[in-house]
Amino acid sequence: MTLFLNNYLNGAWQPASSPAHTLTDPVTGETLAATGGAAAGLPEAFAYARQEGGRALQTMTYAQRAAMLAEAVKLMQAKKDEYYAISLANSGTTKNDSAVDIEGGLFTLGYYAKLGAALGEARSLTDGAASILSKDQLFQSQHLMVPIRGLALFINAFNFPAWGLWEKAAPALLSGVPVVVKPATVTAWLTHRMVADVVEAGIFPKGALSIVCGSSTGLLDALTPFDVLSFTGSADTAAKLRSHPSIARDSVRANIEADSLNVTMLGEDALPGTPAFELYVDNLVRDMTIKSGQRCTAPRRALVPRAVLHAVAEAAAGKLAAIRVGNPRNPETAMGSLVSREQFDSAREGLALLTSESSVLFDGAAQPLLNADEKSACMGATLLGVRDADAAVEVHRHEVFGPVSSLIGYKDAAHAIDIAHRGLGSLVASVYSADAAWMANAAAALATSHGRVHVVSPDVAKTHTGHGNVMPGSIHGGPGRAGGGEELGGLRALAFYHRKSAIQAPANVLELLGQHSAELKI
Ligand code: NAP
Repeated sequence: MTLFLNNYLNGAWQPASSPAHTLTDPVTGETLAATGGAAAGLPEAFAYARQEGGRALQTMTYAQRAAMLAEAVKLMQAKKDEYYAISLANSGTTKNDSAVDIEGGLFTLGYYAKLGAALGEARSLTDGAASILSKDQLFQSQHLMVPIRGLALFINAFNFPAWGLWEKAAPALLSGVPVVVKPATVTAWLTHRMVADVVEAGIFPKGALSIVCGSSTGLLDALTPFDVLSFTGSADTAAKLRSHPSIARDSVRANIEADSLNVTMLGEDALPGTPAFELYVDNLVRDMTIKSGQRCTAPRRALVPRAVLHAVAEAAAGKLAAIRVGNPRNPETAMGSLVSREQFDSAREGLALLTSESSVLFDGAAQPLLNADEKSACMGATLLGVRDADAAVEVHRHEVFGPVSSLIGYKDAAHAIDIAHRGLGSLVASVYSADAAWMANAAAALATSHGRVHVVSPDVAKTHTGHGNVMPGSIHGGPGRAGGGEELGGLRALAFYHRKSAIQAPANVLELLGQHSAELKI
């Protein structure tokens, strides 16, 4: 019988309803699980989460909540083999690619457990020092941050069912805010299993963690003004959510992480044969193929000096040809599948659109698949070369969510920066060079349109954390079409789950408040 992914609401697993969606193995086509349609009773379930989950969490201190996060990490570490098996079957990923999601999620949860422990027995946070409001200094103002009274609704994308849950839930739960997660249907199984494991172990209070699988109908209608929404997904869905009355009229705070046309840039000094050139090519190939290119941070636009474009293409093509694509159950497979046949079709359509202004420099479609056939969602990596850097439009507009990048030749540094800005706001830009001054100038210029700038010289070849990897101590999010959101960044993430209020009061009242607060040091 097909596994049914029940909703967990009101502190209880809800009965299975008629299956409305099925989850499949993207390599074999096998049906793996099913979800129901629209969830019933969401307003009541959300009220339960706020009242029961919120109240229980907010009687605890940051250190107590941090201890729960640490316990959840310990529990899930012991169950990782099951998570890898689910990831392989449902996302079609190799072990290394599953690790990006699973280990990344647990690492981020553990990171917030440590940060929270350092906040100690406090129940609120102070933002900055008090300012004096009266001549006798007795009347002062202190910005105080208290956990929000509502819940946090997470609507997540299909590409990170584990990390996508925990990178959002870690700062929310640490802040004392109950969570309702709605994973993308196509890969909801792993999120569901992790939630089920944590629920079964009774780590969090009832109502602190709920899950809705399948239909998103009614989720935004059940939000009230003190809730928050954190969305990760496409710009089209984001636009719909932004215009929902809960967001547009009731001012529900919303964080949006959307599409992104990230840039990776080779410095003018990095000629073929130099260490910076080699590093660039290695990292370009790695970052465009990890998780079959289904990372929001993958480099879609590769900016290189015009004079070396063909050398980059040749070196990258040699490495791409060595990547075996196919069924992740075959140990020879280095790159698995896209998450579904729909995503495969969408990526192929996007590729066709990009080739209207680009040439194919390496064609992954010509590669044989390992233990997979043409009905699978396996897609070889493809490297494009934009024919006219100044006339091209689609390369800055259309994100192919698969293993596809486009080389764009630039004439000088100013031209490179100008091209990078044409993405209208992205999550990450990376720069590879051995010229520190060139990199510093590029970093400052790229920072105006990118949430993160990753700068790599040969000195940090072995130690840099990777263009595409999101580190919990650095912010994740980008301006403009990337959604305008901001997540992570250490303790900065807690601000989203707290309400800031200026408390204007006699100094002795502020002193009492300060005894229950930790300073938000960021
Ligand atoms: P999507 O189609 O926009 O779906 C994202 C989520 O929104 C899913 O959970 C989906 O549920 C839900 N949803 C769809 N329509 C909705 C509606 N009307 N109301 C409420 N929820 C709704 O995106 P995706 O295809 O899963 O993800 C791929 C995209 O995510 C890519 O463009 C990628 O760049 C982006 N992404 C961005 C980041 C980032 O951090 N910036 C990270 C990862 C991915 P169903 O699955 O049930 O339809």
